[in-house]
Amino acid sequence: MADIHSGGCLCAAVRFKTHGVLRELIFCHCSQCRKQTGLYYAATNVLDRDLELQGAEDVTWYRSSESARRGFCRQCGSALFWKSDGGEYTSIMAGAFETPTDLEPGYHIFCADKGDFYDIDDGLPKFDAGRT
Ligand SMILES: [Zn+2]
Ligand SMILES: [Zn+2]
Repeated sequence: MADIHSGGCLCAAVRFKTHGVLRELIFCHCSQCRKQTGLYYAATNVLDRDLELQGAEDVTWYRSSESARRGFCRQCGSALFWKSDGGEYTSIMAGAFETPTDLEPGYHIFCADKGDFYDIDDGLPKFDAGRT
């Protein structure tokens, strides 16, 4: 079983391939994720060595905090990646994967910061801030 998943941005300037089983999805409702995505962030992550990136020159890395950056396509604006400084993992937005994704929902974080225009009622674990 190869367990390869592929995906990319809306305009296809940026494409990626991952190797191995993908982690369950984390849904982040913090204000940064809300602003960047328009709703909330759903992401898996992979070890950098298991991520093949095509079109890396079209990824703009926005420094969103002192310890992390967010990667998006500079052509079409698709939010794609999140990466902490010095980390060996890259988070990848669930919506960027081609279907079937095989992705499983995990849990919600930063629920205290979520937008006031939706409810979280899917029965998954919820955390007010990061996972405790
Ligand atoms: Zn694009
Ligand atoms: Zn967030």
